[in-house]
Amino acid sequence: MSLHSFNTQPTEPIELGGDPSNTTARFASQLITVTEAQRVALEAICPTTQDVSDRVQHGRDWWPLSLAWSLNNEVPQIPSVVCRPTSTAQVSELLQYCNAHSIPVTASGGRSGVCGAAIPLHGGVSLDLTAMQGIESVDAISGVIEVLAGTFGPDLEDAARTHGLTIGHYPQSFALATVGGWVACRGAGQYSTRYGKIEDMVHALEVVLADGTVLRTGGAPAGAVGPDLNQVFLGSEGTLGIITRIWLRAHPLPEVERRGAYVFDTLSDGFEACRRIIRAGATPAVLRLYDGAESKRSHGGNGTNATLLVLDEGHEALIDATMSIVHDVALSMGAQIADVDLVEKWTHHRNDTSGLQALTRKGFVVDTMEIAVNWAQCDNVVEAVESAMLAVPHARAATCHLSHSYIEGACLYFTFAATPPAEEFEATYLAMWEAGQRAALTAGANLSHHHGVGFSRAQFMQQALGSGLDVLRAMKTSLDPRGILNPGKLGL
Ligand SMILES: Cc1cc2nc3c(=O)[nH]c(=O)nc-3n(C[C@H](O)[C@H](O)[C@H](O)COP(=O)(O)OP(=O)(O)OC[C@H]3O[C@@H](n4cnc5c(N)ncnc54)[C@H](O)[C@@H]3O)c2cc1C
Repeated sequence: MSLHSFNTQPTEPIELGGDPSNTTARFASQLITVTEAQRVALEAICPTTQDVSDRVQHGRDWWPLSLAWSLNNEVPQIPSVVCRPTSTAQVSELLQYCNAHSIPVTASGGRSGVCGAAIPLHGGVSLDLTAMQGIESVDAISGVIEVLAGTFGPDLEDAARTHGLTIGHYPQSFALATVGGWVACRGAGQYSTRYGKIEDMVHALEVVLADGTVLRTGGAPAGAVGPDLNQVFLGSEGTLGIITRIWLRAHPLPEVERRGAYVFDTLSDGFEACRRIIRAGATPAVLRLYDGAESKRSHGGNGTNATLLVLDEGHEALIDATMSIVHDVALSMGAQIADVDLVEKWTHHRNDTSGLQALTRKGFVVDTMEIAVNWAQCDNVVEAVESAMLAVPHARAATCHLSHSYIEGACLYFTFAATPPAEEFEATYLAMWEAGQRAALTAGANLSHHHGVGFSRAQFMQQALGSGLDVLRAMKTSLDPRGILNPGKLGL
């Protein structure tokens, strides 16, 4: 019995353009169908449905290209069944069965991924983990919370707070995504510069392998017991195992919160200030730097200057020292102090996701691309990505902000838009991704900071990993020799 149980359900990304019984699948030719006898066997293992509306919703996520398809009542794929196990034992039995019968199994949580990772590309079973929700145990002395994989962000954080704890993981999709999805995609919250990314928060995992084997990884604050097996499954996007249970590192609730806002003459000056702040050892929870266009759009900028928003929370002495370093560095770089209400405004709008759908409905190509890059390459990467994207016919905008910082570099988050004629929508969308992603990789950035790879970025994995992709493929073959787990993703 869970200490806290919940029943939050996924939020659908955009309305379907017609009745689900008439919805068609883009990748219908790749479908592997579950037979009637197999369906009956799956139903005996765990709650299983063939409901058409349920199956159609499980055929899509928040991948922006597929949002446009949805408006035409088209989804990427339609699984044969949706299975909703309620225990690790059921997940294990289901995988044993699917492995024996070579049935594809695609895990899904909130289906808030933006790269098509949860799309059951080859049909088969959509394995919905959201019936496995709840906080199972709290070790308040060590600050470790055991949570089931299908638990949504607000439920987890609310429960942690009743024990005087916080996880500190607040992605923009906080209410849309599950803990299992955070781990499977190596997610990042908006307060990550203090609390870390999800890979810094995972203490231990329970994972079910393709053949049904249940294993536990991690479980100690550090180790030298060979490679860290937590990290094998962090970011594996449902291709190496199903994550059923997570032990997360929790922090004491913050004593105080402090805020600040600054304006730099150029984005480059802002990068240098962020670099100096972080390298001085100051790690404010939020350190977000917006380029001229984004500053003008949302933070009262003049179109060329760059706005820095800062927020930190924690022990008063530590936070005051951190904010003092931020202030000194910003002024030493020639920044002007800006209205601190800009931070308040940001906190109110930071999880508003309505803009994407509104532009999609209007026929705009619109998406975001986040990458990680060392400080030395920040300026070059911005120049390379934006000029490559803007060279694509019908491109309207390519803008950037820095959203997460590290001792050696940062996450740069690009937003791009285009207004092609309807018949060129898809080609324009794909061309902007191709241009931006290749330019980023060539200029020294990586492929993804927190959105993952999924389906839409799989084509870039060879360039991103080189022969490392062979190592990943060898791991896949070893852990999932029949290739049943989320086939077609991560470049595997
Ligand atoms: C508006 C918006 C804002 C976003 N902002 C952020 C952000 O700030 N930070 C961020 O990191 N991401 C963000 N995302 C992306 C997305 O929310 C994350 O990738 C999230 O971690 C996905 O979680 P989910 O539960 O929705 O997973 P899903 O989308 O359902 O699945 C994603 C992948 O994980 C796999 N998976 C899911 N659960 C499991 C499991 N239990 N075991 C094994 N594999 C599993 C799936 O097979 C799939 O490959 C945003 C998305 C949207 C739509």
